[in-house]
Amino acid sequence: MSTDTVRITEYLELDLTNVTWNCVRCSHVIGSAHENYKHGLKLYDRDPRTIYPARFEGAHSFAPDPTWCRIVEYYCPGCGVQMETEYLPPGHPLAHDIQIDIDALLSGTGNRTERPAN
Ligand SMILES: [Zn+2]
Repeated sequence: MSTDTVRITEYLELDLTNVTWNCVRCSHVIGSAHENYKHGLKLYDRDPRTIYPARFEGAHSFAPDPTWCRIVEYYCPGCGVQMETEYLPPGHPLAHDIQIDIDALLSGTGNRTERPAN
């Protein structure tokens, strides 16, 4: 059990003791904090038309073109909470959107502020 964590998003926290990404909701260890946390999550690569269906018949339906856009949803393998969603072109690698300077944070040289009480 970790004793020192930093909350990063609503459902993602950084465990400074074990240097891992964890789920806030169920404490599932997602993976090493030196890696992209999304690699440790379950993902659902969705056809955007299932979320934004056509409003009209024909080419100008206002539905997203699945050959240009995919909607990727990320879920915690431990509890199933949806942790993130992103829109990517087909074939694009998962976005690496959070990268923390772990060494600076652990050494106290990071610009860390106290977290609010939960
Ligand atoms: Zn979880």
